[in-house]
Amino acid sequence: MECVFCKIIAGEIPSYRVYEDEGAYAFLDINPIARGHTLVISRAHASKVTELSAQEAAGVALALQKVVRGVERALGPEGLNIFVNQGEVAGQVIPHFHIHVVPRSRGDDVRFVTPTVELSEEEFRELSGAIARAI
Ligand code: 5GP
Ligand code: ZN
Repeated sequence: MECVFCKIIAGEIPSYRVYEDEGAYAFLDINPIARGHTLVISRAHASKVTELSAQEAAGVALALQKVVRGVERALGPEGLNIFVNQGEVAGQVIPHFHIHVVPRSRGDDVRFVTPTVELSEEEFRELSGAIARAI
């Protein structure tokens, strides 16, 4: 078992745990973007959300809601960014599914700056149709 997050779940690598249940484990990110930056990870090892079973994915979603509620109660952030990096190209460094929960406050230094893509009506129609047909 080479996975860092599997080792954290197994207690082989220490972590600042905030929550765990049968489907998920949550702990503070060691290199936080903001105070209280928390990771909610699946107990099952899988790098992508689609590699989890429906039950495993649902379990992580339920744990996410609990963790977010806890972060809100404990820290009272003005907002949160909740996101997943999937695949190296998207910035995923640890190939074990995890959801970032980042507390936000007005005037903080967190930036998610990205250009937008211009799409025509036809492209919107084609894209929504292609995705809808694939679901
Ligand atoms: P990714 O870029 O894969 O979405 O995010 C991985 C996150 O895991 C990073 O924010 C990084 O700081 C965090 N991380 C990596 N190794 C460890 C570790 O050993 N312990 C903890 N608590 N966080 C880690
Ligand atoms: Zn793992």
